[in-house]
Amino acid sequence: MKLVLIKYHYNREIHFYPTLAEEAWNTAAALDKIHFLQLSYMFFYQYMRGGNDLRIKALNGFKDILPEDIVLWRRVETVLRDVLERFHFSEIRLPILEKTDLFARSIGTDTDIVEKEMYTFIDKQVTMRPEATASLMRAYIEHNLHVAKPVQRLFTIGPMFRHERPQKGRLRQFHQMDVEVLGSAGPRLDAELMAMGSLMFSEIGVDVSLEINSLGCPECRPSYRKLLLEFIDQRLELLCDDCKRRSKTNPLRVLDCKKPGCREQVSEAPSVIEHLCETCSDHFSGVREDLKRLDVAFSVNKFMVRGLDYYVRTTFEFVTDELGAQSAVCAGGRYDGLIEMLGGPKVPGIGFAMGLERLVLLLKQKGQARDTVSEIDLFLAGLGKTASDHCFELMHALRLDGIKADMDFEAKSLKSQMKQADRAGAGYVLIIGDQELENMQAPLRNMATGVQTDLKLEAKSISRTIQEQNLH
Ligand code: ATP
Ligand code: MG
Repeated sequence: MKLVLIKYHYNREIHFYPTLAEEAWNTAAALDKIHFLQLSYMFFYQYMRGGNDLRIKALNGFKDILPEDIVLWRRVETVLRDVLERFHFSEIRLPILEKTDLFARSIGTDTDIVEKEMYTFIDKQVTMRPEATASLMRAYIEHNLHVAKPVQRLFTIGPMFRHERPQKGRLRQFHQMDVEVLGSAGPRLDAELMAMGSLMFSEIGVDVSLEINSLGCPECRPSYRKLLLEFIDQRLELLCDDCKRRSKTNPLRVLDCKKPGCREQVSEAPSVIEHLCETCSDHFSGVREDLKRLDVAFSVNKFMVRGLDYYVRTTFEFVTDELGAQSAVCAGGRYDGLIEMLGGPKVPGIGFAMGLERLVLLLKQKGQARDTVSEIDLFLAGLGKTASDHCFELMHALRLDGIKADMDFEAKSLKSQMKQADRAGAGYVLIIGDQELENMQAPLRNMATGVQTDLKLEAKSISRTIQEQNLH
């Protein structure tokens, strides 16, 4: 293609050299003329957007959740909150920044999170929370919540921060719904929580399966750890570098390695559930019995080792095979010694965290991305300045009366106002011109049926009509 256009960037401006462009245009073949138009359009478009180079984009792994997706997010949150209420949970809201030491002490220094994923302000010794359990424990201890209620059932929803490699279902800022119950050690509670998780997924409308395991307790784990170490030592050379290191610091985590080579090596490893002490074994049987009692489907995954140090006995995950490598949608377990370790009372605890991005992704994959929702009940279409002024007042009165209403402020034509109403999914449009103002009566158009009813131009009667019709 011949030279058809010269672009010149200077302070966001794009200049065309008209003589060259004109000459090129005149000599260009028909196909080149099309290219010329395409290029001109492209440059003009860039120019209108302010030029590429000056735009600041969001950080890698940090995502905006746009209004069109908020519909799904809200649906998920509404279901979660509703189920949580039925299970008698109370909400707690926690700060995003905490002392780094809180996470190092609770999650464990040899874990992926603390070793490499935390966003820490080194000079201030504070960290943006990578998960909510530690913060919730801190609040529980700080406010003596055990005194208020012997069993606390708490939940929180919010963003977490981990410096991981972003990919589908894995972000650096992501959201979790986190549930913790403090003050009960029996297996019944474990089963109840899993039944609640299971109900949440079924009410949201996604298919996941529940996998459970037991990690034993400080009594039975040391002897199992010894057995596992012996097994690992025999294969150490065949494991990845991370696992070689883990075998020294936290051998259980070798079982959790995602690398196929390591997975193959550990497939024959002794499993902790085969080496539980009597109390842990009874506890695990109790969990399974109660799950069956509530008809919750599950399978035992004897190699499921959660990546956090604080777990004892029951651990569980809700998994899916529809999100590639990111299979866990929800994960949790029991952490009976944690509160004491953080300087609190001797109170047992269990909890889980649900990844909301992964849930929303599952819903989107099911084709539920774009629900047509009504953003507003009523759009007021005013024709002319006087009618528009009247609409403005009326709209405010209707909003005070509980009606979701909107109008156009740009003196657009009726056609374009109707389009605007349509885009907002308005249930009704009230059309007001000079004639309507004079009669103090205007047609209310039902957008779904096209039926128009004349109404008195008075806020109370309009809101009553809309509310009544919305009930049907
Ligand atoms: P994974 O094995 O996927 O890294 P995890 O064991 O680190 O998960 P948890 O700390 O147990 O995850 O967090 C509970 C849930 O939070 C996960 O099951 C997942 O749904 C979600 N989650 C964890 N990390 C991320 C992330 N970086 N981006 C999005 N969701 C995440
Ligand atoms: Mg992780």
